[in-house]
Amino acid sequence: LELRSVPTRDSKDRITGRLWAVSDVTREREADRLKNEFVSIVSHELRTPLTSILGYTELLRTREFAPEERQQFITTVFNEAERLSQLVEDLLGMSRIEAGKVKLNRWVISLTNIVYELTTQLNTSLIKHRLLIDITGEIPPIYADRDKVKQIIFNLLTNAIKYSPNGGEIQLTIREAQKRDLPGDHPLGQWIVVSVRDEGIGMAPEDLPRIWERFYRVDNTNTRKIGGTGLGLSISRALVELHGGRIWVTSTLGRGSRFFFTLPVAGMKG
Ligand code: ADP
Repeated sequence: LELRSVPTRDSKDRITGRLWAVSDVTREREADRLKNEFVSIVSHELRTPLTSILGYTELLRTREFAPEERQQFITTVFNEAERLSQLVEDLLGMSRIEAGKVKLNRWVISLTNIVYELTTQLNTSLIKHRLLIDITGEIPPIYADRDKVKQIIFNLLTNAIKYSPNGGEIQLTIREAQKRDLPGDHPLGQWIVVSVRDEGIGMAPEDLPRIWERFYRVDNTNTRKIGGTGLGLSISRALVELHGGRIWVTSTLGRGSRFFFTLPVAGMKG
């Protein structure tokens, strides 16, 4: 709350009292703070890959290298360009969501195929990690937008990799949800629950409610070294909720996290 006061005066310029103005500026300040933080995060996220792309292309342009070395540099340039492209996609995705422009293209689809595609796509990032896929029992088809579902799982898997820098196991589980698997306020009906568990750095309880906010990043020595914009989870949450589902997390600092989300089974009533 901000209080401002000015003296009131009569026609002879004598002070007769004070006029007080009370205004709530916390919201404006918070918006300003987020905007500044946004500009600094985005600039940093743009600069890091760009510096490396410029550096390596300059080397490749001006010097001779052994074929293996050359190949290694080109791979780095490609990976960094991909990171830039991901950042731009996230920014566009976020603004489309906020403008209410995202429409789902929903079909009856199988999650198993999506998971298979994702694992082949992520193969090269899984150097230190072991990815376990646990799909037990008959998984009924879902009614969902294929690309969006892929994006949600991709976000959770890449976070699991990023935030377990020492490696470890990452487990992707898909189940038909039982009532006890769902949070108390979950909509009724028939749901599939997807979860991604890692053995990474985990999060403190006070950070858990905030990670869904756009641009929010847990601030500690571990996360500062790991790149990111704080957009992935807010995009994922918006996409899950467009499907009528929910997303939530359990985590222990220093031990790991487990993210869950639900998607509606095809033909579900309501
Ligand atoms: P980004 O990874 O780009 O920072 P996200 O929106 O995906 O953005 O995640 C927000 C924050 O939540 C991250 O910065 C990180 O602090 C925390 N976080 C997300 N996933 C995990 C995880 N698997 N383990 C630990 N912390 C995580």
